Amino acid sequence: MPGFELFGEEEKKQVNEVLETGILMRYGFDGARKGIWKAKELETAITQTFGCKYAQLTSSGTAALTTAMAALSIGVGDEVIMPTFTFVASFEAVLSVGAIPVLVDVDETLTLNPAAVEAAITPATKCVMPVHMCGSMADLDALKEICKKHHLILLEDACQSIGGTYKGKALGTIGDAGTFSFDFVKTITCAEGGVVMTNSESTYEKCDGYTDHGHDHKGVDRGADEHPFLGYNFRISELHAAVGLAQIKKLPQFLAIQRSNHAQLKSILEKVPAVSFRSIPDPSGDSCTFLSWFLPTENITRAVVAEMKAQGILAGNFYWFDNNWHYIRKWYHLKNGVALNALNTAQQVALQKIQSQNFAASDAVMSRCISTSISLLWTPEQIAEKGAKMVAAIEKVLQQQAVHA
Ligand SMILES: *Cc1c(COP(=O)(O)O)cnc(C)c1O
Repeated sequence: MPGFELFGEEEKKQVNEVLETGILMRYGFDGARKGIWKAKELETAITQTFGCKYAQLTSSGTAALTTAMAALSIGVGDEVIMPTFTFVASFEAVLSVGAIPVLVDVDETLTLNPAAVEAAITPATKCVMPVHMCGSMADLDALKEICKKHHLILLEDACQSIGGTYKGKALGTIGDAGTFSFDFVKTITCAEGGVVMTNSESTYEKCDGYTDHGHDHKGVDRGADEHPFLGYNFRISELHAAVGLAQIKKLPQFLAIQRSNHAQLKSILEKVPAVSFRSIPDPSGDSCTFLSWFLPTENITRAVVAEMKAQGILAGNFYWFDNNWHYIRKWYHLKNGVALNALNTAQQVALQKIQSQNFAASDAVMSRCISTSISLLWTPEQIAEKGAKMVAAIEKVLQQQAVHA
């Protein structure tokens, strides 16, 4: 999964070009920067690589989501439908613009169940935000249809699925807007960074201003810029963008390695009848950052995860053990509405509602799911060894359960 695994001379060279000019900011200083515009160059590379009209870099993936929501006029009182399985950033962004996160069940795609989305629509619903978790995608045709029917915005949180596609289009470029994160553990890293992608010029112009104090970037210099609306500072620095430029050039290589390692591991697990795999709306578009698979019951899964941990194999279970980040079950701060500053009344009411909501359908999926992160550094021998240990762990647990039954 992470681009930091193949980090080296290319990144150093890009960063050094910025250090030599001494201009670390993405705007202004036109003479002193000697033609070096890393953030602009990376934005162009993103539009070309992923096939969208516009790209606005931000300081993080969370900032990208926040920016996209502001640009799409999502704010106080608006409901945003999002999945129970994601990274905390998704609801942080919703709350930070004053909007209301409405959590709905995931299915075996590990992202939004379209029927659950439709059932959650109210007159206050403004946006549906699928999160393409663990490298693969939501059922975008079904979600697009729902959004069209109910006049809703489709915002893709594609932070974890850089390089994935759906029916030939890059994830993150299919909705009204989409975001990537370039944090340290993502497929491409800038150390910290993110991007909003869109095909709408007006949405892009809003993102451009919002991330830089509302500047319209049309003055002869920064001081002469107008401020047509309020903004914040979600800018990326030239140093971060420089790292991203080196990384995006390696994306085809990252994806090829991920796909090959994923296929090798999958071919080993496939031989175990008790194992089933995540359902993927367009299998050819899986970016293969993770191999996500299921065991028949919660108990078996729990025992296999424990056995794999004992063997030193990363198990990636989001339901129990030490993961407090990705699944609603352990988002106590969200469910209890614990914030440093006041949430608005509609948000408080909504969070109280989440406390008593039943997510049995999500639990039934997530408690049986193991997501194995695919490393770029594995050798074929290491994958064979890992796969054999995983199979042995599953077989040991199944035998024990058969004895007890
Ligand atoms: C990483 C991530 C984000 C945001 O990431 P930052 O760490 O703020 O760059 C948002 N959503 C998902 C699903 C993520 O995995």
